[in-house]
Amino acid sequence: MFLPSFRHLIEIEALKKQNQQNLLQIASENKRISDLEERRKKTAILIDSLILDDKNLKIADTNGQIELLQVRLKKLNSQLALAVTEKEQVAFENQITLIKNECDSLENIYFANLEKSELIEIEIAENKEFLKGSLESLEIIKTEASSNISSEQTIIDNRNLRIQALVELVHPSVKSLYSELEKRFSPKSPVSYLIDKKCSECHMQADSVLKNSLEEGRSIEACPSCSRLLIPETAKIY
Ligand SMILES: [Zn+2]
Repeated sequence: MFLPSFRHLIEIEALKKQNQQNLLQIASENKRISDLEERRKKTAILIDSLILDDKNLKIADTNGQIELLQVRLKKLNSQLALAVTEKEQVAFENQITLIKNECDSLENIYFANLEKSELIEIEIAENKEFLKGSLESLEIIKTEASSNISSEQTIIDNRNLRIQALVELVHPSVKSLYSELEKRFSPKSPVSYLIDKKCSECHMQADSVLKNSLEEGRSIEACPSCSRLLIPETAKIY
């Protein structure tokens, strides 16, 4: 008397398995979007940090310092020209050498940083280019994904209607045990098959009494070992 119910359960389980494939497809469509969004987010953070690096080179500040030193140098040179004593002359010359050295070292820093800044600006421009281009790709992917997801969802919805219709056909006693085990084993399957007297999931060996009454559809059995609802192999034959 339970054999037709077992057959329905086999079909329900098969349909659910097919749903899993469509759900995987939906997940992969969503992942396409989130992967690109993640890359764009990382790129925006990178751009911010590059801008900060560029700012920290303080190129304008160094240039300002150099200009100030050059003004001082000019002034010292004119003072040197007006120096009366040799002592004054030597003092000015010493100051001039000192400031020239300082100026040289600042200029070295200035040009090295200028080179670094140019490289950073190229990197910023490349990353901004990616952000711009990927925004367009993202829109295209989103449109594509949403159409793919909606067709996958339609397939799932239709299949779920078929599952619901089949569940209605299952004997109430089988149905109640099935729905109870379904909650317990979710997201795994709550059923296993009795094949060659063995549970297909846990390989528990059944005795002949259980096997016979199950195969003849006289009883509903949960596997004594793994508690899954046992479906006799004979129910597989339509
Ligand atoms: Zn088992």
